[in-house]
Amino acid sequence: MNRRSTGWPAFAIAGVLALLGACDRATPSPPGAGPSVTSRPSILLVTLDTTRADAIGPDATGVETPSFDAVAARGLRFRQAYSTIPETLPSHSSMMTGLYPAGHGVHENARHLSVTLPVAAERLKQTGYRTAAFVSSFALARRFGLARGFDVYDDRFPGDRSERTAKETTDAVLAHLAQTDGPQPVFLWVHYYDPHYPYAPPEPYRSKYARDPYRGEVAAMDEQIGRLVHAFDARGPSAILIVGDHGEGLGDHGEAQHGDLLYNATMHVPLAIAGPRVTAGVSDTPVSTRRVFHTLLDWAGLPTDHSLIEHGAAVAEAVLGEAMKPFLEYGWQPQVMLVTGRYKVILAGRFEAYDLTKDSGETRNLGSAVNLSADVRKALEDYPVPAPGVARAPDALDEDAKRRLASLGYVSAGAAPVVRKDAPRPADMTGLLASIDRASGLFAAGEYARAIPLFETILASDPHNLDAALRLATAHSSLGHEAQAVAAFQRAAAIAPGSQDVRTYLALHYARTKEWARAVPLLEQVVAESPDRMTAVEALATLKAREGQLAMDEERTEAAIAAFARARTLAPSAFRNDLELGVLYLAARRYADAKAALDRVPSSHPEYPMALFKRAQVSVLLNEGDKDARIELARRKADAITRPLIERERLFKR
Ligand SMILES: [Zn+2]
Repeated sequence: MNRRSTGWPAFAIAGVLALLGACDRATPSPPGAGPSVTSRPSILLVTLDTTRADAIGPDATGVETPSFDAVAARGLRFRQAYSTIPETLPSHSSMMTGLYPAGHGVHENARHLSVTLPVAAERLKQTGYRTAAFVSSFALARRFGLARGFDVYDDRFPGDRSERTAKETTDAVLAHLAQTDGPQPVFLWVHYYDPHYPYAPPEPYRSKYARDPYRGEVAAMDEQIGRLVHAFDARGPSAILIVGDHGEGLGDHGEAQHGDLLYNATMHVPLAIAGPRVTAGVSDTPVSTRRVFHTLLDWAGLPTDHSLIEHGAAVAEAVLGEAMKPFLEYGWQPQVMLVTGRYKVILAGRFEAYDLTKDSGETRNLGSAVNLSADVRKALEDYPVPAPGVARAPDALDEDAKRRLASLGYVSAGAAPVVRKDAPRPADMTGLLASIDRASGLFAAGEYARAIPLFETILASDPHNLDAALRLATAHSSLGHEAQAVAAFQRAAAIAPGSQDVRTYLALHYARTKEWARAVPLLEQVVAESPDRMTAVEALATLKAREGQLAMDEERTEAAIAAFARARTLAPSAFRNDLELGVLYLAARRYADAKAALDRVPSSHPEYPMALFKRAQVSVLLNEGDKDARIELARRKADAITRPLIERERLFKR
């Protein structure tokens, strides 16, 4: 492999550390330092999914957003704010950690933010804030790691939906605020998802914006921003930060949605702050949304370097961004961008440069006409490219470099990126993006028969597209086309030998068949290499529970305990495993273990009556002081299944 030939020299880690934000983490303040808890403002962070900078605020075109405008008018609006990455979970991970994706290691959705990284909510909670979060999309569900530090993390979606509207989210927030009182300041994060595709605004916005339903969604969301800010302000002194996680292509540069390119349609985002020490006005300094982290800490009285509050003193920094999805999923060129002063430079196989003051649409590539400084080139060339989940011998990184990468949360520190010499530039592949989007949509909707010909078309023009090969294989597998599935998996394995994606999808294929036990070792391997791959983690948890059930039916108690214990480690919030473990430990006369397992089953679990019944049995066997109360509770909460069991139970008779 020769990375130099692709424009990506082996990365020089030391030089890029500062850019990744490793050196400017806020240091903890000594106890007693800073303003007292009660003098600090309550803080409201509002993140707007999929919201373009030109679709909200006083400069927006074709839409009215009075609520956002009102916050911007009383505070400071940044006209040159940039997302760190055009995808939901990675972008929010930057805002919560202050790190670029190369620093926190989350380059795609469906990963898990490393538990070793300090997050804003944790820091604020430690200094006395009460913390609550309300998110509106499954992309930010608790399982992906952003819930750390929040007393309340509300990721409930109505019915079996995977998102909720700004109105539904705001209703939940206002109900929560009505119950929250007291002298402690509050840190509240609210995430709205409405402008995400598909665009279907409610009335009256549906009619008013019939020609531009995307902006209709933004306008509907803005109404809810108004309700939210009004309720929050009514509680006392407040600080507010509103920011977009990324924009939406809407056809610019051939991109309909987001995630595949680095142009301003998806990277330039709205950002406004209002509150203590904020001088009202407008700033044209390029800033990164990762500085949301530092700004939150600053309001909370914690010393920090990159706060946006006193922008006059802000150092003009080089703002970085990346879009690695096409690299990680399709095998195209990695993409990194840098904004400095008036110029934006993109490195994706080769350099592109745009003068944003004259060409905000990035239509005239100045290319070599701009004399890029050595620093700019170096910052882009040294930006670490993530390893695409291929198990390989560790690259020639020394121990110190590995340790420092690991301390940045750079998860795949052992493996080096492989960029194919002839990998296409994403900007040259936009002709395929529409097919990819359509195929992914059909695939996600379970319309496999319609998706298959599209994946075939994609592979015909882009034969190294791993994602298309894997989804083609999975589509065949789901339809029971065993032979075609196996052929497509072989094709995927040839594209990326040893790839974690190939092993994960192959395991999911086995999991659908009678050969499901073959999936377990594959998934164990993937999880051991990359514990942040939530698809593999959750599939493995399901299979271990199935293994446990089988062993239980065959009365192999020890094997069943081992399987359920593994399932529980992988999916600690699947309390069904705790219930099964409780029953098994009881059968194995391991009463203390049974007690611990049953005590973990929450009252919200549908089989809580069974947990209470089993717990009462354990209580009698351990001769606990409150055993009678436990029997009584099991009786009181009994359901149709446990009632006859309780009546017959000899342990409960004396
Ligand atoms: Zn998003």
